[in-house]
Amino acid sequence: MTKQTHSFQAEVAQLLHLVTHSLYSNQEIFLRELISNASDACDKLRFEALGDASLYGDQPKLEVRVSFDKAAKTLTITDTGIGMTEQEAIENLGTIAKSGTKAFMEKLSGDQKADSQLIGQFGVGFYSGFIVADKITVESRRAGVAASEGVRWVSGGAGDFDVEQITREERGTSITLHLRPEAQEFLNGYKLKQIIAKYSDHISLPILMEKEEWKEGENDQPGDMVKTGEWEAVNKANALWTRAKKDISDEQYKDFYKAISHDFEDPLTWSHNRVEGNTEYTQLLYIPAKAPFDLYQRDKHAGIKLYVKRVFIMDDAEALMPQYLRFVKGVIDSADLPLNVSRELLQESRDVKLIRDGSVKRVLSMLEDLAKHDRHEAGTDAEVTDVVSEEDKAKEGKYSQFYAEFGAVLKEGLGEDMANRDRIAKLLRFASTTQDGVVTSFADYKTRMKEGQDAIYYITADTLAAAKNSPQLEVFKKKGIEVLLMTDRVDEWALNFVHEFDGTPLQSVAKGAVDLGKLQDETEKKAAEEAAEAFKPVLAKLKEALKDKAEDVRATSRLVDSPACLVVQDGGMSLQLARMLKQAGQ
Ligand code: ADP
Ligand code: MG
Repeated sequence: MTKQTHSFQAEVAQLLHLVTHSLYSNQEIFLRELISNASDACDKLRFEALGDASLYGDQPKLEVRVSFDKAAKTLTITDTGIGMTEQEAIENLGTIAKSGTKAFMEKLSGDQKADSQLIGQFGVGFYSGFIVADKITVESRRAGVAASEGVRWVSGGAGDFDVEQITREERGTSITLHLRPEAQEFLNGYKLKQIIAKYSDHISLPILMEKEEWKEGENDQPGDMVKTGEWEAVNKANALWTRAKKDISDEQYKDFYKAISHDFEDPLTWSHNRVEGNTEYTQLLYIPAKAPFDLYQRDKHAGIKLYVKRVFIMDDAEALMPQYLRFVKGVIDSADLPLNVSRELLQESRDVKLIRDGSVKRVLSMLEDLAKHDRHEAGTDAEVTDVVSEEDKAKEGKYSQFYAEFGAVLKEGLGEDMANRDRIAKLLRFASTTQDGVVTSFADYKTRMKEGQDAIYYITADTLAAAKNSPQLEVFKKKGIEVLLMTDRVDEWALNFVHEFDGTPLQSVAKGAVDLGKLQDETEKKAAEEAAEAFKPVLAKLKEALKDKAEDVRATSRLVDSPACLVVQDGGMSLQLARMLKQAGQ
């Protein structure tokens, strides 16, 4: 077969342009991406071979080799994984299928500096090879197909790539990077080992490099490292989560987080446990410090990797974590699930349900723990003591940080997770009319309730300013009654699911006739009744005049300075929600 030239999909060309033209400060991530692809390819083979062991052919080993050739200025990453057919190479290395990369592309601002930081954060998979290479050659043969059905894919990273059929004896893929003049520093065994240790230590396959020895130069030539022909594993290749907690340092936990999340920042906190009981599993769960750019994307994947007895099964195992905890990253390794478990099976498995329940509880406990130790938080939730351990001190401020990033997502849980609704409600924080500049919880609010007050009052609005200045608050201000100010888009929806907190009903100040109950004294009540009576004829006229626009017109005691305000019926859709639906075109 002859060589064929194909054009990259427009988005790929755009991405490549960015990759090659950005002043790139974090070049070395290309190795992380390529090794992770090699490792994925081995995982895929292992998985397919569960149903067809003949796919291994005469090569039972799954491994990754990293080698370099100083004279040719090339760096090669070879794996014995699943490999690619010609068609697969054309599709996988010429288009962007991943929604994550697409979302990344949409995020690009056109500002080189900001954009290149984005690449560093999210990685752009295979294409990151072009950060350091001006030409990439991929040779591959898929497991199970004849040696003569191999493929060679070559591209200079501009608009197109060439593909031709080759004979390749070995199963799997090698990726050869022809390094740019300014990237020659990667032709160095020591440097490569360092990078692998940093990003790929947790990869559970051996990553092999050829051993080198120092050789003195002869005839006044400087000495150099020379290859010995012997290969050695340069990663630990043992899955971090399988080790005992006491043998793992904080640094190692953090590095592992960065490796699995592609995040550059340290996580806020993590929890590592072996759970025994009805079903046995290990969980290592992290709460990130920063929200990812695609947190609100509809097809945003869950961040949990599923393993069964250390064998990688799948990424984004959404059955293991509910939507409202989609920001959690980590690993769950089950001892009981079958290795050939599919996504469909996961949805139905009783073990999975137990694991999921256990993991949700664990995440909520982590959050409760952060909230308890956050002294920036006002009120009773924070345990303010003078003696605090180093460990506790490190937790200060973290809950507010978490809440600013993920609070709105957590609220979705009120609707999604009935069983944990009360625990979630306790974790919520709101601005309030009496707590300037700090947020408060329902529990704290309750401690400040006035004598005779029998509801938690709240108002929803688009912005904090709009909430604070609402005429509906006038009577509450006058009486010094605190009102929670809710300004997240999800508040309105989420509060449909919470009618009370710890026995105290929640009451919107914008709905129905506000019944101030015992908070109104006798004279006020009487005045209100008299006013209602006196205004009857006027109200009837107004009602007639507004009959297409308003359901009812009535005298109110909720206003102090303003002449009139709009309210909705009890149980009716709030103005805020109606506006939201209107915006959404409903
Ligand atoms: P991702 O790994 O997130 O899918 P990449 O850009 O890193 O995205 O890789 C694109 C695709 O190319 C992979 O999904 C895979 O199908 C294919 N691929 C890349 N490297 C290899 C490899 N070493 N062996 C087999 N397939 C590979
Ligand atoms: Mg990849």
